[in-house]
Amino acid sequence: MSQLNTFDQEQIQIVNNAASLAEELVSNAYKLSASEWLRRRYDIKTLAGLAPDEVVHGPFAQIIRYKAQRTDTSLSSSSYDLYKICFQDHTILEKLKKSPDIHLYPFSLYIVTHELIHIVRFTKFMQNFVATADEKMDEEMRVHKKTHDILGNIRISRLSPVLAFYNQWHTYHDKLLAQKESL
Ligand SMILES: [Zn+2]
Repeated sequence: MSQLNTFDQEQIQIVNNAASLAEELVSNAYKLSASEWLRRRYDIKTLAGLAPDEVVHGPFAQIIRYKAQRTDTSLSSSSYDLYKICFQDHTILEKLKKSPDIHLYPFSLYIVTHELIHIVRFTKFMQNFVATADEKMDEEMRVHKKTHDILGNIRISRLSPVLAFYNQWHTYHDKLLAQKESL
């Protein structure tokens, strides 16, 4: 594989800041008791932290579900789902280059908010991770609507071009990858 463009340190910091806000917004929207509830269920990685098979071409991000084993218990059967949000830096950077009105902070905020809504819905069994293509399409629509509901209420500089871009929700690419066994 040829060398893909990855975020620099400053861009990674921007993504981390956007992720913190997204976490808070989604926790509040779903009245999750504490943001730790959500934090224990997912991990977020940019391209530099991805295994080769977590890299995709086309989507801006993908979610992979892993089976994780609790280490804080003697019950060996105690496993739980851990969702990994895999940022595809190369595709996002390409988009930023082509669209000067789209900026990394609000763009990342949309992406992480969107993916966290998926994760909350999977975790709360509002949606099955494994679904037919039609079900996934319906779910995409619901998740985009919810993302707009949440982000529509806050004031973030340069967010409106991102919301406008995602109004054509079908232009959004993410991918939910079938479960992998890991850890
Ligand atoms: Zn989605």
